[in-house]
Amino acid sequence: MLTLALNSGSSSIKYRLLRMPEAVTQASGLVEGIGESEGRFTCRRGGENAAPTRSTLPIADHRQGLALIFDSLGDLPENGLAVGHRVVHGGGLFDQAALIDDGVAAKIADLQSLAPLHNPPNLLGIQACRTLWPHVPQVAVFDTAFHHTLPPHAYHYALPRRLSDDRGLRRYGFHGISVQSALKRAAAQLGRQPERLNLIVLHLGNGASVTAVKEGRSVDTSMGMTPLAGLMMGSRCGDIDPGLLLHLLQQGELDARSLEHLLTRQSGFNGVCGDNDVRHILARAGEGDAAAQLALDMYAHQIKKYIGAYWAVLGEVDALVFTGGIGENAGEVRAAALRGLQGLGVDLDPAKNAAACAEPRAIHGEGSRTAVLVIPADEEKEVAEQTYRLVAAASA
Ligand code: ADP
Repeated sequence: MLTLALNSGSSSIKYRLLRMPEAVTQASGLVEGIGESEGRFTCRRGGENAAPTRSTLPIADHRQGLALIFDSLGDLPENGLAVGHRVVHGGGLFDQAALIDDGVAAKIADLQSLAPLHNPPNLLGIQACRTLWPHVPQVAVFDTAFHHTLPPHAYHYALPRRLSDDRGLRRYGFHGISVQSALKRAAAQLGRQPERLNLIVLHLGNGASVTAVKEGRSVDTSMGMTPLAGLMMGSRCGDIDPGLLLHLLQQGELDARSLEHLLTRQSGFNGVCGDNDVRHILARAGEGDAAAQLALDMYAHQIKKYIGAYWAVLGEVDALVFTGGIGENAGEVRAAALRGLQGLGVDLDPAKNAAACAEPRAIHGEGSRTAVLVIPADEEKEVAEQTYRLVAAASA
């Protein structure tokens, strides 16, 4: 079976075509800068090491972006094809991946009120594929689904119950596809069963979250009803005092729309030091730039606080798992976040931490009581695996 994993985000669309169940990549690529004056399309035919073809062109909307992808994939045989869509918000409706029919598509559309920035572009991808391939099975794989095991004391906010009970205003958590993938790969790396593992998974990319995994299940996570909460991120604020928002609204300085822009685009690393690329920020800090250093210090401090909190929630931790573009590549960030945790039995091996490598690996020292792992994120593969499993089971 060929499985197309599609991640249709707000301004970019990532895709990977895999032959399943072997998970061999046949083609992959990325459309970026949708709706901006200059868009970019990068595609690879063949495996990840194939040379990419790049083109720069205006890409007005998602339809045009998806058309570029469909064209580059050529005529795919509809028989034996499945499409897996990453969908950000499954609310309380989806606790696992779902075969998409009209009813499921309508529910994803209904959830737009909870995820106005994320579910609409996901839905555009679903609609385009259903129109192009009406007889091809399509599967929605939700970023929230892995967190459906959060206990009530972790998912409730201390607000009037009617807001959570009647309107679904509660913590859902995100990055579940990444955490599920990291859990499987960490288990393989440690030679253990996933359902026996206690992990703290740190997904540090443009978006960033921390998840406490107890015996293979999510029991707490830093993102909330939306992916704005928790750690500071590339351009999102993370946890702040809600009273501060009231203050801004009451002073009449901002309306809801400009507040959204402030919290999702102008905050995080961007807000503190004017850049959201951690490579640049590390270089600037190395040259003595105080704003860049402050942003990195804040980030490390916040990660450390979540590790401490989730350690207390879990009782025992088998491994700390770093994933996402920053988690995988920025040894300096990992070292800063773990500095001072020797009391918890965490001991980093500096040479292993500094080495660059694209494979899952352990970076703790021999005396460390807890493993520290770096696991490259592979959300497309996880989407393809869940899609394959569901489609194969449905056709059995
Ligand atoms: P997304 O959440 O959009 O998928 P990624 O997981 O790709 O994002 O992470 C993007 C972040 O990873 C950016 O801040 C980027 O600077 C950072 N990053 C990527 N490579 C490196 C590197 N070699 N060193 C430090 N940071 C890196």
